Formats: sequence, structure tokens, C-alpha cells
Amino acid sequence: ERARPLFSFATSRSSASGVPAGFRPPPRRVVVTGGAGFVGSHLVDRLLEQGDSVIVVDNFFTGRKENVAHHLRNPRFELLRHDVVEPILLEVDRIYHLACPASPVHYKYNPIKTIISFLSRICSYFCDLRVRSCYDEGKRTAETLTMDYHRGGGVEVRIARIFNTYGPRMCLDDGRVVSNFVAQALRRQPMTVYGDGKQTRSFQYVSDLVAGLMALMEGDHIGPFNLGNPGEFSMLELAQVVKETIDPMASIEFKPNTADDPHMRKPDITKAKQLLRWEPKVSLREGLPLMVKDFRQRILDE
Ligand code: NAD
Ligand code: UDP
Repeated sequence: ERARPLFSFATSRSSASGVPAGFRPPPRRVVVTGGAGFVGSHLVDRLLEQGDSVIVVDNFFTGRKENVAHHLRNPRFELLRHDVVEPILLEVDRIYHLACPASPVHYKYNPIKTIISFLSRICSYFCDLRVRSCYDEGKRTAETLTMDYHRGGGVEVRIARIFNTYGPRMCLDDGRVVSNFVAQALRRQPMTVYGDGKQTRSFQYVSDLVAGLMALMEGDHIGPFNLGNPGEFSMLELAQVVKETIDPMASIEFKPNTADDPHMRKPDITKAKQLLRWEPKVSLREGLPLMVKDFRQRILDE
């Protein structure tokens, strides 16, 4: 049997000549898979704000209806409970494909499915076949498939490699370092530092990522583009920033690290800066309090 595409496109709006004065084009129809998740829901906010019509396709594996509940009465917004491994026919102008469990806790739950859903990220550079490989291989395969659809099927595509991103609406207990430290400090538990805490990461605030994804989508370049914040922090430095932001009495507890933990992960965003004219604007010290406010409320509601 021939593989059926997951989405069918039909770009219905050809540009008309002799457009009458005062004519306003109908809103663009945009699909966001994974739109009830952390990154997706912030993207949906911005797309609706700029006048697009948005269809969210999500199976709520890690996403939450609460993340998009504020749009349910908006006539330009639709929410579909659907699993993207099943085909769906939608007439749309743009697809942002973000559906994929992003945290190790979740993507190891169903590795085969994780390989099927995709959106590229930095992990596609690594090539080990250990626990993380369902995710990394999935992203790598996705990039290849995306380019095949482009070359063979004439589909216009864009590819982003997303680096560590944080902000409001992140899953509380997904095991990522920023959400762990913030939730632990708010619950007055020690922050768990794996290994010696000298490994570094670069943390991007979610609004910067959303701006990057939108610039990429509307620009002329396919990519792949690295989207991340090059500011580098060791886990000990991150714990210190969390401590200053939440609780000066917060403590640290060292835990053993896994052998395959990268020592450093920092994006080179030269290409995105030059070709998309995009760069992150929000520093960790500016972004963290915005996330803490959301986490504090959700932890109080538990
Ligand atoms: P998230 O878990 O909050 O969002 C993923 C969304 O996809 C959820 O709403 C989930 O329910 C949905 N989903 C998962 N599998 C699905 C399926 N089969 N069908 C339909 N919906 C499905 O994660 P996120 O942090 O918002 O990540 C979004 C994307 O960005 C993912 O592709 C992720 O791999 C990528 N990414 C995120 C980060 C990060 O730091 N947050 C880093 C690199 C890449
Ligand atoms: N980490 C940590 N404590 C935690 C969770 C993670 O010290 O409670 C470390 C982890 O070992 C890694 C870094 O934080 O070195 C980033 O981990 P995360 O899973 O957030 O992102 P990734 O490793 O995918 O970049």
C-alpha cells in the first residue's frame, strides 16, 4: 500500500488582480500540531493575535486543554483531538508540526510512536542508540522525510532545530532541568543537580522561540536553522539563578548523572541571525520570573 500523507494541502487563495479598495483577505488557515502543548500553545496565541485562523491538532498526551482554553470562544480557533500518526485531511495554508513528546519522561513511554512524530532539534546531531535514540532518530528521520517531500512532492518546507526552551505552561514534572529546579524550589525541596553540575546548557525563553518559528515560516529559507539562546549556564549557575528568583534558602542535592549526558549544548545561531534577522531577546534572569509566576499558581492549585 502506498504511504498516505499525514496532511493534505489545498491553498485556496490565489491572489486576485483588480482587488477592490478596502478588500481584506480572509485570514490564513494555520494548523498547529501539538498546539495544546507548551511551545504550541504560545505559538497559537501569537498566530491568533496576528489575525490567522488556527486549528490545533493534539492528542493531549502531554498537552493540556487549559493551555488553549482562553481561545475556545474565538471563532478563528478550532481544537481537534487527533493523533498525528493517523492521516487527516485539512485545507490549510500553513502547518507548524510540533506534536511530539519533548521530555525524556514522556518520549520513552512509547519509543516507536516518538520516532513517527517529529520536529527537528539539535539532538539529531548525536548518533547513539541508547535510551534517547527514539527521540534523536525520530528527529533525524523527520528532517530527511521533510526534505524528500520538498524535493519529490514540491511541498514548501521549513526546518527548525530547537534548543532547550522554558517558560509558562511547561509540564510541571517532565524531568527537564528548568522545570525540575523551579518546581523543587517552590515546593521547598532540594534542587537535584546531576553529576558535578558543571555541564552547560543554553536556555531560550518561549516567546523568542515562537518569534523564530514565525520568522522561519514566513521567510524564504528552508533551513535547518538553530533556534536557541546562546547564553550559556552551568547547572550550578542555573540553580543559583533559581535560588535568587524563588528562595534564597533553596538547597542543592547532587545526584548521579547518566553517562550519555552531553557536557555542553549551545546553539550557533549565526545563520538565523543573518537570514531570518532573528535573535533571542529575553535573558534567563528576565524570563525565569515569568515562568515562576505560572508554576507557583499551578503548584498552589495541586
Ligand atoms: P509538549 O509535550 O508540551 O508539546 C507536545 C504536544 O504534542 C503536546 O500537546 C502533546 O499532547 C502533543 N502530541 C504528542 N504526540 C502527539 C501525537 N501523536 N498526536 C497529536 N498530538 C501529539 O512539548 P514542547 O516542549 O511544547 O515541544 C514541542 C516541540 O518542540 C516538540 O516537537 C519537541 O520535540 C520540540 N522541542 C522542544 C524543546 C523544548 O525545550 N521544549 C526542545 C527541542 C525540541
Ligand atoms: N539536570 C539536572 N537536574 C535535573 C534535570 C536535569 O542537573 O533535575 C541536568 C541534566 O543532566 C543535563 C541538563 O540538566 O545536563 C539539561 O537537562 P534537560 O533534560 O533539561 O535537557 P537536555 O539534556 O535534553 O539538554
